[in-house]
Amino acid sequence: MNVELNVNPMESWAGKNVHRPLIIAGPCSAETPEQLFETAKQLKALNKVDVLRAGIWKPRTRPNAFEGAGEDGLKWLSDVKKELGFKIGTEVANPEHIELALKYDVDVLWVGARTTVSPFAIQEMADALQGVTDKAVLVKNPTHPELGLWIGAFERFYRAGVRNLAAIHRGFSTIDKSKYRNVPTWQIPIELKRIAPQIPIICDPSHIGGKRDLILDLSQKAMDLGMDGLMIETHIDPDKAWSDADQQITPSRLNEILTQLKIRETSSTDQQFNDHLDELREKIDNVDRELIEILAQRMAIVEKIGEYKKQTNVTTFQVKRWDDIMKNRGEQAKKMNLSEAYVIELFKVIHEESIRKQTEIMTKAPATTNA
Ligand code: PEP
Ligand code: MN
Repeated sequence: MNVELNVNPMESWAGKNVHRPLIIAGPCSAETPEQLFETAKQLKALNKVDVLRAGIWKPRTRPNAFEGAGEDGLKWLSDVKKELGFKIGTEVANPEHIELALKYDVDVLWVGARTTVSPFAIQEMADALQGVTDKAVLVKNPTHPELGLWIGAFERFYRAGVRNLAAIHRGFSTIDKSKYRNVPTWQIPIELKRIAPQIPIICDPSHIGGKRDLILDLSQKAMDLGMDGLMIETHIDPDKAWSDADQQITPSRLNEILTQLKIRETSSTDQQFNDHLDELREKIDNVDRELIEILAQRMAIVEKIGEYKKQTNVTTFQVKRWDDIMKNRGEQAKKMNLSEAYVIELFKVIHEESIRKQTEIMTKAPATTNA
């Protein structure tokens, strides 16, 4: 994938003193002027929060839930901005939202996960932002793990001239049983970083976890992966919040979490460290080469089996054999102190490729000889 997005560094829109991580905090929703102001006041006192967030238009799964304070909430946000000197941010989902957010001088506009899935909605919003260069646009990942759609949204805003861009990683919907509200699937933001390293990534542990207890560990993981910021839902009285009560934390808990986080450098200039790292990486390179050689050996055997099954006219997929492999490889993994789930996932991929190869052999026409 070829992506050219020369976005501005975060410091240019979030303030001169932004140190990694950038912190965005505030309630899931602006509920009342008092709730918003009190939360903002306590957050301001921490002196660690760069942008105050509050949802004004809430994308609720079903109607009849609290759908946000609307324009009133924008007024409360802009009062907070004036009185406390906070940069303010809210979610926008259509051109009307953008028009109103601009009217109230909202600094940071974020696109929610349910909106990123729609290229039509994104294009309409990008058109509405044409020529607006002083605001930041943060794009949450789409609800399902499709990296192209996420990147497509950046491209649409970029073409409209928006340069203050960042990504928000908020996890992905799943039908599997999970301790997370939205599974993090870290390889997606990691791949985004590889393809478009200029785009800062902010992790939203609140919507990934869905529960307050998970926020510290998720935030630490995001920092260990070199992410650039955190968006954490914060409320003066989380249990009484009108939306996302289970995942919101108080400003003082936010302070504890931020104090406990270990922020490691993304690289080091220490020569001894870099030499040692190079040495270990060379070892990894060698092991990986061996792994690939072994995979090739395995595939050569798979091909032989494929030919044999073809001659004997039996199916490629043998359910009993597959079941045995899954059980046995999982057991072996445990004995070697590897996670069973990890090794089983790997073997699913290996087995899928074996089936593909054997199907190719089965469907290949027999070689014809010239008469
Ligand atoms: C939010 O940030 O409050 C929100 C609705 O998030 P998401 O789009 O990630 O569900
Ligand atoms: Mn929320």
